[in-house]
Amino acid sequence: MESSRQLSNEEQATAVAGGSSAASGAHVARTASEPMSLIDEVFARSGVNVRLCYQCGKCSAGCPMVGEMAVRPHMVMHLVQRNYREEALSSDGIWLCLTCETCSARCPKGADPARVFDTLREMAQETNPRLAPRAIGAFNRTFLDQIRSSGRMSEVGLAMQFNLRSGRLLQDATSMPALVSRGKLKVKTPPMRDVDEVRRIFANVEAVQRTYGQGDER
Ligand code: SF4
Ligand code: SF4
Repeated sequence: MESSRQLSNEEQATAVAGGSSAASGAHVARTASEPMSLIDEVFARSGVNVRLCYQCGKCSAGCPMVGEMAVRPHMVMHLVQRNYREEALSSDGIWLCLTCETCSARCPKGADPARVFDTLREMAQETNPRLAPRAIGAFNRTFLDQIRSSGRMSEVGLAMQFNLRSGRLLQDATSMPALVSRGKLKVKTPPMRDVDEVRRIFANVEAVQRTYGQGDER
């Protein structure tokens, strides 16, 4: 029973990594060329020991976003265990995660997948923000731009900027005018009163990122 489950998970990680023998060879090459394995780096950053994960799948079974994910939470954990760095950092599972922490609450081994995914997102942002799937990266940047500029989210502005950045130019083109005319969406959202406080927070974060050589690629 245990061995068939192991085999299944092995196959899943291999499939995500893009093929059996090629993926296996790439794994060996990556391990040899990197000073620290992915599992050790995640541990160093988060204090979470992904080796504890025994692939029971309870995290995926309880995840509210699992239906949208090609790479489900337990599969991401397996990618980390197998040192598939780029596949883990670019997996849609970590970028669609809502940080609701249901998976961590359900995990019988205390492997804390939510903290692991948070750590993986941080690592991707530091090394290559383009690893995020285009639509998700576009949404994150658009959302942050809106908060930086007005302290609030404008639904119409968010939708239009997101469509431009994600290349989905005609998405919502037919539904948005009707929603605006019925008052369901506001065209103008006034900035919040203390928006300068918000801008100061952004400036401080950007100063820290410059100090440590990180940054949001646009
Ligand atoms: S619930 Fe925990 S042990 Fe089970 S697959 Fe998910 S992370 Fe691994
Ligand atoms: S924290 Fe993320 S991965 Fe975990 S259950 Fe919630 S949405 Fe799913």
